[in-house]
Amino acid sequence: MAKLSKYDLLITGGRVLDPANDLDEVCDIAISDGYIEKVQKEIDPSFGKSVEDWTGNWIIPGFIDTHVHVGGPRSTWDPALGHQMLALAGTTTAIDFGCIPEQIPDGLLRKGAGLNFGGIMVAIPEITIPNDHPTHDQTRHIVSDVLKRGALGIKITGGYYPFSPEITSRIFSVCNEFRAYAGYHVGTKETGSRLDGLQEVPSIIGNGRLHVAHINAYCRGSILEPDEECKQALSLLSQYEDQLVSEVHQAIPNGTQGLCDKNGEVLSDVAKNCLKLKNYEMTADGIRQAIKDGYCSVMKQTGDTVGYIKGEDALNMFEELDTNCPLSFPVNLPSSAFNLTTAKKPDGNFIVDAVATDGGSIPRNIAIDSTMALVKFGALSPLEVAIKLSYNPSKMIGLKDRGHLSEGARADITVIDPQMGKAVASYVDGDPLLKDGNILKNGGRWLVTKTGEQEAITSGLDYEILDFNSSKLYSGYKD
Ligand SMILES: [Zn+2]
Repeated sequence: MAKLSKYDLLITGGRVLDPANDLDEVCDIAISDGYIEKVQKEIDPSFGKSVEDWTGNWIIPGFIDTHVHVGGPRSTWDPALGHQMLALAGTTTAIDFGCIPEQIPDGLLRKGAGLNFGGIMVAIPEITIPNDHPTHDQTRHIVSDVLKRGALGIKITGGYYPFSPEITSRIFSVCNEFRAYAGYHVGTKETGSRLDGLQEVPSIIGNGRLHVAHINAYCRGSILEPDEECKQALSLLSQYEDQLVSEVHQAIPNGTQGLCDKNGEVLSDVAKNCLKLKNYEMTADGIRQAIKDGYCSVMKQTGDTVGYIKGEDALNMFEELDTNCPLSFPVNLPSSAFNLTTAKKPDGNFIVDAVATDGGSIPRNIAIDSTMALVKFGALSPLEVAIKLSYNPSKMIGLKDRGHLSEGARADITVIDPQMGKAVASYVDGDPLLKDGNILKNGGRWLVTKTGEQEAITSGLDYEILDFNSSKLYSGYKD
């Protein structure tokens, strides 16, 4: 007698890694209406309308990348290409770390690849905010406006557009007041995008809350030996664990900007630090020499993706763009990424919450690959892969029904081939997203706060409301 199909989809045979439920076992997963119904051994395959067998692969809750770029003031490529680049890497949810709010719905509509997507607005004086010294009232207006426009909060990029310590502090404290997401690439007008910028964080936030981006970027050996910088960074993060959330990325190339002033002096603190690390002049000529020597690459769109060019081609593009050119230097140290990713507190929890990519349209969406390499190296357990890539990120941003595979959770899943150390498939809401190297969805779901709901409705996109009161960032926070 034919049985009734009870489930929309059965994912069978994979090794299920679900740290929230302390589960590391070969199990089957039953999904209906986009949610997990059941995870158990050997569910009768005739119960599934469709059955996908992932024997030999690892099944983790969908990869949540808390730091990507699919927007921002970049002009030499279409940053929305990042949607596809992320989907191909096995991502199911991502947060743009420095966009203009309107870029998120625009990107989802034009180039969306079926991901859950939110973004925080980059604060750039005279471009995204009126000036570099907003009053308290102006700052309140800025933050509430940003939330209304559908962004999740604000990012300050101290390595590019630093504010005074006082204004930096003001912007984050207003974000905290509104329970908006507060993201920080460290550095003020008094410090830099280095360890000194990180060490300034406690005085900036007072009792407040903050997501400190890419800790690895402050441990490149700009001030002390890299190992010592890692040690001091980890000590600070441990000391302020109740107030800070953080991530690392593990790609060696960074992404930065070559723009020089009329005297040929490099403007961005990040690019200056990169040049200085290898004793180049911090000028347009210094960049030219670094390109000729192969130390500096240029990022360029080719077709539907973004990659690196070097040598003569890179130099030509740098000249064509009159120095306003996206550059990359191989400055991120594998040893720092390793130390920061694997370091734990005495209670066994990680000091740095998550592995992110700082990728998207920047071609370095390698978080799954590099985290899997740490398993091969013996530095992380399989369950810890799921902690770093999904469980902890879900908590950082308060996505309660993701990051785990409990009954009733959203059926967002990433499938990893442990031999290749790569994502081979993904599901969002129980629908296949990545399969056989192809992206099967477009559009996506816009993540907004309650204040941004009207904007989300107007966009016509599917949307979801995040409440940061449920996030680790604001856990236990009172004004
Ligand atoms: Zn970034």
